[in-house]
Amino acid sequence: MAEQKRDYYEVLGVAKDASEEDIKKAYRKLAKKYHPDMNPGDKNAEAKFKEASEAYAILSDAEKRQKYDQFGFAAFDGSGGFGGFDFNSADFGDIFGDLFGDFFGGGRRGPANGPMKGANVRTSVRITFLEAVTGIEKEITLNLKDPCPTCSGTGAKPGTTPQMCPKCGGKGQVVFTQQSFFGTVRNVQTCPDCGGSGKIIKDKCTNCGGTGYVSSKKTIKVSIPAGIDNGQSVRIRDKGEPGVNGGPRGDLLVEVIVEPHPEFMRQDYNVFSTVNISYAIAALGGSIVINTVDGKVIYDVKPGTQSDTRIRLKNKGFPTIRNQQIRGDHYVTLVVETPTKLSKEAKDLLRQFDALTGDSLKQAERETAEKDTPPKKESNKKKKFWKN
Ligand SMILES: [Zn+2]
Ligand SMILES: [Zn+2]
Repeated sequence: MAEQKRDYYEVLGVAKDASEEDIKKAYRKLAKKYHPDMNPGDKNAEAKFKEASEAYAILSDAEKRQKYDQFGFAAFDGSGGFGGFDFNSADFGDIFGDLFGDFFGGGRRGPANGPMKGANVRTSVRITFLEAVTGIEKEITLNLKDPCPTCSGTGAKPGTTPQMCPKCGGKGQVVFTQQSFFGTVRNVQTCPDCGGSGKIIKDKCTNCGGTGYVSSKKTIKVSIPAGIDNGQSVRIRDKGEPGVNGGPRGDLLVEVIVEPHPEFMRQDYNVFSTVNISYAIAALGGSIVINTVDGKVIYDVKPGTQSDTRIRLKNKGFPTIRNQQIRGDHYVTLVVETPTKLSKEAKDLLRQFDALTGDSLKQAERETAEKDTPPKKESNKKKKFWKN
């Protein structure tokens, strides 16, 4: 049992800084190659599959990955029980959904009729852009199933017992072979007659109609971490559907929808915005007020700032989910506003300014120079002109 474990990154063949997508891709490849249903009876493939699945379960979960990065395998020793890795606690649903479709049916959740983890429940919650910066606790209300109190979840009328399902012989699964592009596959599916329970109920519980479950409205608190991005999900353990045959409950997966902000854009952990500055401020320099996700800040614009200059306000972006102390930056594009409504006085002053700075002379000079002067000489000329 005390064999040496391989590093999870090494197992998946990815770099330490691999993205979630890379990890998923790497795992998908290995899972396809080593899945026990693709390699019947091959113990080596099975071991490889388990190794890859364990690595994926850790590295695909931001929280666990961080712990692993920090403490290595020690992070999961002791009462956490990752030594005896529990497949049922990890959610491979979406990856196997991508990979095999419903091909494996309920098979991957271990033997039917034994304890099975309940299904995950998915829901969503809306938060504002600024709530995504600070993190927030939200309450969501949804209908959740619980085992029926009248029949204790058996679905059978009190005093009666469910019968063994004749279709699957109580196993909860039916097996048939099917041709697919992987070759001939032994396909295990949840028994359609008993829904995987292995039991048929003759006298149904009147409280739950024989389903064994009752639904009720529940209010659940969701802690949404600072830095969460639109479309990411928060997992709440054990708030999904009840397990079957004494298995644990599934999880609740709350997708977070972040509303767009009228002023700020987000990319990764950085914030982007545009601020208009006047021509005078751009030329002379001066203080401007910039809105950030932390509130207003005063910024000193340098004299001679060109339009579309991008400035960086450090650590004014989103906190990273893994480490809330580390934040992205806020990039502000300064756009010099050309005045459109000018009074006569302002126009006169601008004309005077133009004459003073020689813009009209320069224009005339350029028109004659462009025809036969090589561009290099022209730029030299310009520089000299400006120095005067
Ligand atoms: Zn009942
Ligand atoms: Zn059955």
